[in-house]
Amino acid sequence: MDKEEIYLKLIQKFGVETQSVVAVEELSELQKEVCKMLRKIGNVHNLAEEIADTLIVIEQLMLIHNCESEVALLKAQKLQRVYERYLKNEM
Ligand SMILES: [Mg+2]
Repeated sequence: MDKEEIYLKLIQKFGVETQSVVAVEELSELQKEVCKMLRKIGNVHNLAEEIADTLIVIEQLMLIHNCESEVALLKAQKLQRVYERYLKNEM
């Protein structure tokens, strides 16, 4: 079973609203781990765990809202734009 099938099963079982709430919760958990790393009380394993959780919920959000292609395009455009600003010393 591929990850998209697993995501669809989760979304069908728990619903869009619950999976959206879980996404917000996971984003918050990642914020907390990033703060712990900055405070020198975190560890890379816990950070990696929250990054993995966050990627999973982000992929579910893209599936729910059918915007994976748009996200990929915007990501490429934004990365290019920030690199151009970097080259021009505008940041
Ligand atoms: Mg988590």
